[in-house]
This record gives sequence, structure tokens and C-alpha cells, in this order.
Amino acid sequence: MLMQESAPPELCIARVALPVPLYRVFDYLIPTDFELQKLQPGIRVKVPFGRNYMTGVLLSVHNTTSIAPDKLKPLSALLDSESLLTPADIELLHWASRDYYHAPGEVFAQAFPNALRKGKVAELKNDEIWLLTEQGQHCTPEQLARAPKQQQLLSYLQAQAPNGASLQELRRQFPDASNVLKTLLAKNLLTRAPAEATLQVSTLPLLQAALVPNAEQLQAITTVCHALGQFQVFLLEGVTGSGKTEVYLQVIQQVLAKGQQVLVLLPEITLTPQLEARFKRRFAVTITTSHSKLTENQRQRAWMQMQQGAARILLGTRSALFTPLKNPGLIILDEEHDSSFKQQEGFRYSTRDVAIMRAKSLQIPVILGSATPALESYANVQRGRFQLLQLTQRAGQAADPRILIIDVRNKPLQQGLSPPLLQAINDTLAKNEQVLLFLNRRGFAPLLMCHSCGWVARCPSCDANLVVHFAKQQLRCHHCGFEQASVKLCPLCKTGETFPLGLGTERVEAVLSSLFPDKRILRLDRDTTQRKGVLEDYLQQIQQQQVDIILGTQMLAKGHHFPNVTLVALLDVDSGLFSIDFHAPEKLAQLIVQVAGRAGRADKPGQVMLQTRQPEHPLLLTLIREGYHHFAQQALAERHAAGLPPFSFQALIRVVATNVELAVEFLHQVQQFAQPHASENLLILGPAPAPMAKRANQFHYQILLQAERRMHLRQVLDALIPYMVDLPLAKKLRWSVDVDPVDLY
Ligand code: ADP
Ligand code: ZN
Ligand code: ZN
Repeated sequence: MLMQESAPPELCIARVALPVPLYRVFDYLIPTDFELQKLQPGIRVKVPFGRNYMTGVLLSVHNTTSIAPDKLKPLSALLDSESLLTPADIELLHWASRDYYHAPGEVFAQAFPNALRKGKVAELKNDEIWLLTEQGQHCTPEQLARAPKQQQLLSYLQAQAPNGASLQELRRQFPDASNVLKTLLAKNLLTRAPAEATLQVSTLPLLQAALVPNAEQLQAITTVCHALGQFQVFLLEGVTGSGKTEVYLQVIQQVLAKGQQVLVLLPEITLTPQLEARFKRRFAVTITTSHSKLTENQRQRAWMQMQQGAARILLGTRSALFTPLKNPGLIILDEEHDSSFKQQEGFRYSTRDVAIMRAKSLQIPVILGSATPALESYANVQRGRFQLLQLTQRAGQAADPRILIIDVRNKPLQQGLSPPLLQAINDTLAKNEQVLLFLNRRGFAPLLMCHSCGWVARCPSCDANLVVHFAKQQLRCHHCGFEQASVKLCPLCKTGETFPLGLGTERVEAVLSSLFPDKRILRLDRDTTQRKGVLEDYLQQIQQQQVDIILGTQMLAKGHHFPNVTLVALLDVDSGLFSIDFHAPEKLAQLIVQVAGRAGRADKPGQVMLQTRQPEHPLLLTLIREGYHHFAQQALAERHAAGLPPFSFQALIRVVATNVELAVEFLHQVQQFAQPHASENLLILGPAPAPMAKRANQFHYQILLQAERRMHLRQVLDALIPYMVDLPLAKKLRWSVDVDPVDLY
């Protein structure tokens, strides 16, 4: 019998995204014993790469490849039996890789928690949660008076976790939770249930009733609810305390009632415990969190819970943006102006912009909330892309804080504190209320100078001055970490004495202790809060009024609300008024409003003081007389007149090299190549040194592209990227592209 001649076997090629910094994807041969229908886009695969193996994401299956057959390696294994990403998510990641000009494999890796990136099994172990029994709900502290540990744990569940808590969560609060739980179980005060049990309830029980919304809140809630099931962007503008969170909660209630999930993105992790508790008190559904303080396993768990629909609400930071949602209904970005929403290294994306793209592809609404929205967002309101919802009153009827400008020109300052401010501090302390002082500069003094020759201590590795740290008698570079012992005698003229020039938080703390010897002073900056748990401790001390004067940096500007603080002062706002970065006025205004928002409550309105040598500065005056919203409109008009973003589009090409000539030469070649694209509508600025060119012995140079229309920017970048990839010099340095940079540093 003749052998039947078979057609040449068809090639089966898997296209895979691998987490390497290359602008390409990789083809692998699919071994014939793999079942093709299992190769769903979005599953993870293990592949040989170099001498090792790597975990990647399967993108698609093809019959052809441009790789020579003898170079083609086979897939090693399929790691998932079902896709972990939906087609919409895969599309979104492709889009993000294209629009931000970032290596696709790294963009896809960003969508997964670390554990899954490394190839761990994607499974959701069904955890148990601990719940109060009927008897436990009614147990009073007195009944457990002789067992304080049991009493504390029970009170915690009653107050903070009425819908149950996992063992991990309880262990975080109570180190010996396991033993206590056993006892409480034996006493029939607690019971155990599978973690997802709360989801089986058919009607959505509200644990704590919603508040009665005021007219503005009601308007906001109805408007957003009306848009559920379709794409729309809402900008919810309202000062701290105006009831934004309550609006979120009531909209979320509707989304949950439809059986859908909610992704809530937040800037800071220190904020989530309060917010998490508030969510958990309201809804009897599984609420999960994701942020950098969790372990890899916890983050994988949160990711899987959302992916499989086992949790209904995810509260997370920037990195939670790509978490897959089984049944998405709403995305919320709280504090949408916050700079942490922009990833500043590697894949430099804007969480706000990607969240909006994501909502668009999912056909769901997005709420952007802030007391101080970004100018970009206002511009989008003007263009009709976002709908503005305003909350103009403080919900609990707390009065808006009064803002006063303190002119410190020619005033005798005591280490930066003016007489009117000192008077106000005295008055506030006399009423047993708290004072919050803000200075965004840690250390004792930003400079060490020689009295006789003017020498200044510089970092040997950076274009930066060394900062004086008094307690440790050290000089430190805040950019590269260099440190050395402080010097009394000038190393240059060998005769002059050195002295610290300028103010840092450590110095202000010292003067405060001498001026107010019987008051408790707390300094909150990166130096005092390094140890784990210290910040949380300090925040609690403030809440419980164990301190009188709080002095701190940026760290204090966000989220926390201190009801007994009635005086807030920004010791120096001038540095923000004269920055070369065109974003600086916007950032300063946001900072002032945010810091001001930390203070006061209904019966104790707060007062805010700004110390400045520019009391007539138009920015300050508009902000104070007319509020942030008007300030923003004015600042936008200025950007418009200057042709700056958001009325033009920028991309920054950055180069880092150990050798200046290399950096400049590379960028010259880039500039030469891009030059034909230059026009009235497309500016090519540079090559130029970055604002601080030398950092840790590396040289930073850049070219800024600015176009009137995004399309023009795309055209030049589309041509430039492949050109840069192939430049021989590219191998000797690091370069990156930052689309819509917010920091030109
Ligand atoms: P934001 O998120 O804008 O800072 P919140 O939603 O946290 O504002 O509200 C501030 C305070 O006002 C909270 O204590 C909240 O419970 C209360 N609150 C909010 N809305 C109402 C309302 N409609 N009625 C009464 N109190 C409210
Ligand atoms: Zn000297
Ligand atoms: Zn340095």
C-alpha cells in the first residue's frame, strides 16, 4: 500500500510577551503534543530565554514567523489552564505599551502581582474568616473584664470588622490572635466561615445605613448612577470634608446591587486603614486591599479575588490599576491630582489616563475625586470630556479654614517663626488645641557654609549641596545617600568656621523645644519615621492629643484629618513660587489647600497661616481670595497663553550615562534625526542637561519634544523609537521616553 503523502505540517507559533526592556515580543514553537485550544491569549507560559527560563504572557497564536526555523525554540509549559486576562485587558495593555512607548513585555508584567510574574500557581485558596456569633455581637466589655486580650479582639470585630476578618488581618492587630481566637470559639462568641460566604447573600445588606445626602451630594450621586453601564468621566471637586467619600459609598452601593465590582485607587497607603474601616462598616461584601506594604502572597490573593469575582471592592494604590475584574462596574480615583499616580520610572504611565482608557474599554463610569483637581482635568471639563460635579459645602458643617498671609519681610524671625505666628501658636496652645507646622525640608539646614570664604559643602557625586543633620553631626546628600561627618573648620581656607545656613525641620524642632519647653513636640519626616510602624504610632498620638505641636514635611499633607488641630502654618511658601518647572504653582496651590484641609472641625474652625516674602504674589492672592477653583482657571489661562500642557503635548527623552560626552552625543544624533519633523507645531528643545545633571556620578541629559497636537508628537516618536533602539551608542547608556512628563527633573 502506498504511503499517503501528508501536507507539510503547519507551523504553530506562540507569540509571547516577556518581561525584558525590549520593544518587541517573542515567537516560540508550540510543541505538537500541546492542545491548541488550551493556548488562550492571557495565559502565562514558561519559555526558554538565553540560558534560563522565563515566565511570559501568551498574546496570540500564528502560522508564520519571521524567525528562522532553526532558531525557533519550543514553549516549555503552559502555566494556566484559563486566561487570567480578558480580551479587553489585553487590548488595554497593548494600547498602553504603544501610547507610552514602553517595552510590551514590561507593560504586561505590570498587570500581574509579583508572585504570578514569577510563575507561581494562580489559585485562590479559600480562606476562613472569623465572625461574631449572635452572642458575640452582644457581649459587653464588662463581661470580659478579666480577659483583656479577648475583650480587645472582640471589640475590634464589633467595631471594625462586623462582617468578619481573616486570621492574617487579626494577626496584624493582635500578635497572639490564634490563641485568643480558640478561646473565644470555645466560648461560642465567635465562629468560622469560608471567606466568600458573605457573597452568597442575595440582597445586599447595608451594615451601617447611608447618611442622608445633602442637595449637592444627591445631585452627584444621581448623576453618576444614571451613567452606570456606560462610559463617562466625572470630576468630583470638593474640599476635604465636603462628603466626597460618602458620594463614593452611595454610588458603590448601587454598583454592588447590580452584582458588579468596584476598583478604588488611592495615592497613599497610610490612608487605607481609615478608609478600609469605613467601607467595611458600610458593606457586607468582601473588600480587599492591595499596596506595597503587603506580602507577595497577600497581593496575589487580592488580585485573584477580584479576577475570580470573590471580592467585590478593591482598595489599592497605583499598582492595582491593572487588576482584572470579573464583573466591573465602576472605577474611582481618589485624590486624582496626586503625583504618586504617575509612575516615575520604568513604565511611566499616568494612572488617571490609563484608568479612563480602561473604563472606556469596559464601558463603565470613572469618578475622579479631589479637593484640588489637576489642571489637566479642568481642561477636560472645559473641553466637555469630563463632567464636573461640585461639593461646595463641608458636609458636617465644619467651617472653611481662614487663610492668612503673613508678610515676613523685615520681621525678626526666630529660626523661621515670625512674631504673628508665634503669637498664634501661643493662643492656640493656651486653648489646649493643636498646632501643625509644615516645612518641606528635612534635616537641620540645607547648607553648610564657611563664614570667611563662602565655601559650601557639596556632594562629591551630585550637583547638590550637602544637608546638615545636627543630631548625628553629619552632612548628607538627599539624592544619592552620601554621608560624612560634619566639619567645624572650613576645608578650603582652613581658617574660617562653618555654620549651617537655612531651615530644616530638625532646626525648627530645636527652636520650638526651647520656646515651648513644657509642650510636647512631634517631628514627622522621613528621618523620624523610618522604622516600621512608627508613622502609624505618631498619627495615633496626634489623634489622641498626646502632642501639642506637630512639625512635618510632605508626609503631613495627605489624607489624615486632625480634628483638634486649629492652627496650620506653612513656614516657607516662597520656594514654590519661583521654580523653573511650570507645574510648580499648581503643585504649591494644591499643597496649601491640602495642608489647610487637615485642620478643624464643626465647632473648632481652623486657621491657616502662610509665611512669605511675596505677600502680593497674584497666585497667592487669587488662591486665598477666590479659592482653588478660580486659581486653577487662572493658571489654566496662563498655560494656554504660553502654549504649555494641557494645551500642548510633551514627551521627554532622558539619557543617563556615566560619561557626559556619550550622553550629549547620543542626544545629538537623536536631535539630528528628529530635526526634519520640527516645525512651528513641533518644538525640539535640547539636548540640555537635566535640572540636576549629575546624580550619583551619573549624568542626566534630555531632549524635550512639545507639539500642539498629540498626533504630531506621535509621528515623530513613532519614527524616533526604532531609530534610538538601533543606535550603536544606545548600548553604552540608558535612555527612556516619558510621555506627558510631570517632572522635568
Ligand atoms: P471627604 O471625602 O470629601 O473628605 P467625607 O465623605 O469623608 O468627605 O465626609 C466628611 C465628614 O462628613 C465625615 O465624617 C462624614 O461622615 C460626614 N458626612 C458626609 N456626608 C454627610 C451627610 N450627608 N450628612 C452628615 N454627615 C456627612
Ligand atoms: Zn572658608
Ligand atoms: Zn549625592
